[in-house]
This record gives sequence, structure tokens and C-alpha cells, in this order.
Amino acid sequence: MRNSQKRVLVTGGAGFLGSHLCERLVAEGHNVLCVDNYFTGRKENVAHLLDDPNFEAMRHDVTHPLFVEVEEIYNLACPASPVHYQHDPVQTTKTSVLGAINMLGLAKRLKAKILQASTSEVYGDPLMHPQPEAYRGNVNPIGPRACYDEGKRCAETLFFDYYRQHSLRIRVVRIFNTYGPRMHPNDGRVVSNFIVQALKGDPITLYGDGSQTRAFCYVDDLVDGFVRMMAAPDDITGPMNLGNPVEMSVAELAEAVIDLTGSRSRVVHRPLPVDDPIQRCPDISQASALLNWKPRTQLRVGLQRTIAYFDRLLSENDDIERATAAAE
Ligand code: NAD
Ligand code: UDP
Repeated sequence: MRNSQKRVLVTGGAGFLGSHLCERLVAEGHNVLCVDNYFTGRKENVAHLLDDPNFEAMRHDVTHPLFVEVEEIYNLACPASPVHYQHDPVQTTKTSVLGAINMLGLAKRLKAKILQASTSEVYGDPLMHPQPEAYRGNVNPIGPRACYDEGKRCAETLFFDYYRQHSLRIRVVRIFNTYGPRMHPNDGRVVSNFIVQALKGDPITLYGDGSQTRAFCYVDDLVDGFVRMMAAPDDITGPMNLGNPVEMSVAELAEAVIDLTGSRSRVVHRPLPVDDPIQRCPDISQASALLNWKPRTQLRVGLQRTIAYFDRLLSENDDIERATAAAE
């Protein structure tokens, strides 16, 4: 093992963000253990890493204790799309809370550094805009998003209690909407929905009037923020916002996707989901000052890469369907 090589655990490693993180860590020469229960993640996301002796994948649910030996832990396990985290809300809360307890317990035993993938959802439907880390949020504790929002808030509480009570080396990052290749085509989040709909020529489903805002970060930039946060001095615990502070309405995103795909899809309106935040945009001055981090990928460039990914995926699926039909 090289001196600088670390054994790193990535929970949720077969998911969208997790698979990109595993790829980056393996590329840096680390020994990576990817743990996932494949609820929303896919083996295909990490299939290209399996031949690498520095990569290993393990099926495991983080609501159960895990006994492995590592030096760093990135805790990403948790469905992130509203459709998926509301599918089994009790399991979502368990994943965030029991998952955090199990991973923190593991980190404590190993004296490992541990990073929590928290979320802008801890701010709920924010009344302060853009959102700095000091803002305490406006979360509905009994609504359909609460399983995710409150689960993640409780996980943050646990991280900071382990920090104060057990001097654990923690990092908490609050991730704002991130997109890119390897999102699941049925993920349900806005970027993948719009791109898949546009490429198929299906109607683009705009929830509400589309004036609600988000700020979209490309996955490579976000992963770079993760790695910088983990490498930062131990007094930099976060919580630290990571996201792209370029805010736009969801209707503007639909226009951009239609423009970049050259699609003839039309926009149809669907009801705005309950408690859907009206506006969201990160204040990233902390990440900029303490990690020297800011997103570098322009939205149009990131969208083009993501469109190219889904275009390839959809044509591969078409080929499979055609081959199956021909064989029948
Ligand atoms: P994702 O759904 O693609 O990945 C989540 C992964 O966790 C999946 O591989 C899933 O199978 C796995 N998982 C779920 N429950 C598990 C369990 N009990 N045990 C083990 N594995 C489990 O979503 P993502 O976008 O890659 O999100 C990764 C993390 O980042 C999540 O914790 C999410 O809350 C956080 N996050 C993401 C975003 C974003 O915009 N992508 C924004 C805020 C926070
Ligand atoms: N949205 C939409 N059409 C879709 C999916 C989502 O208009 O097909 C909207 C959704 O109502 C929200 C925004 O896009 O206002 C972002 O939704 P997403 O599920 O991606 O993530 P969120 O930021 O709400 O967690």
C-alpha cells in the first residue's frame, strides 16, 4: 500500500454521486469500499471499477451495523429524489438516523474521519435567501418531505454530538441540487426528468407555474468539494454549503433543456408537490473562503454532458428492445 493511500468507505457508493466519488478516489490511488443496498443505486454505475484491485463493492443496508476497517468514511447512503424518499418514508428516516448512528459508531471505533452528505433540504422552504449555513431553516416536521428533511437534520445533530462528546473528526456538507451523468433515468428529479422527456419527445412536466427556483451544480464540481472538505483541517467541521450559486427558475431550466436537445416536446403543467420549496440558492462564501472551492462547470456545458449520457443510454435501451422483439 502506498504511503498516501487510504482505505475509504463510501456508503451509497453505487448511487449517482457515490459512483462519481468512488471513481475519483480510485483514480487518486485510494483503496475504496463501496457499500450500497441498491435501492436507488445500480451495479452498472460502478461496473467499470470492479476490475480495479483498489475497488470493492459490498451489498449492505446501513440501517444495520457494519464491521470493516477504513480510515475515512463518506456517508452518502440515502435516496435523494423526492419520489424515491417518499416511497417508503419510514425507511428513509431509518436510513438517515440509524445509518448515521451505525457509521458514526464505526468511525468512533476506528478513529476514522467521517463526512456526512447532508442537504439544502435542512433549510426547508427557506425564508432567508440565498441560504447561509447559519440559517436554521423552515421545515414542516409532519409533511411528506419530513422523512428526508428531518432525517437529515437529526443526522447532523448526531454528527455534532459525536464531535462534542467523542471528539470525532467530522465533516458535514449541505449539498444543493446536483446533476450529471449516472442519474437514474427514472430518478424523478427535475434535470433527469426534463432531459429524458425531451430526448423521447414526451411532454416536459413542469410542476406548478415553474417560477420556483433552484441552483444546479455539476457532479464533478460537487465531488471536488467533497474531497477538499475531507482533506481540510479538523477544525473545519461544517456544516458547509456546496452548490452552484447560479439561481434559475424551473421553467428556465425546461427552456434550456429544450434548446440544447433541439426537442419538439411541449411543456405541460402538473400540480406543485406539497411543501415544494419556492426558492433555493446556496451562499457558498464559507466553501470559497475555507476550501478555496467554487463550481467551475457552466450550466450549458454540464447539461450537454448529461444530455449526451442519456442519449447514449436511451439508444442502448432501444437496441436491447429491438433485439428482444426480433428474438420473439
Ligand atoms: P442516489 O439515490 O443516486 O444515491 C443514494 C444511494 O444510497 C443509492 O445508491 C442507494 O441505493 C443507496 N442507499 C439508499 N438507502 C440505503 C441504505 N439503507 N443502505 C445502503 N445504501 C442505501 O442519490 P444521490 O443524488 O447520489 O445522493 C447521494 C447523497 O447525497 C444522499 O445522501 C443525498 O441525500 C445527498 N444529496 C444529494 C443531492 C443531489 O442533488 N444529488 C442533494 C442533496 C443531498
Ligand atoms: N420539478 C418539475 N418537474 C419535474 C420534476 C421536478 O417541475 O418533472 C420541479 C419540482 O417541483 C421542484 C424542482 O423541479 O420545484 C426541483 O425538483 P427535484 O425533485 O429535482 O428536487 P428538489 O429540489 O425539489 O428536492
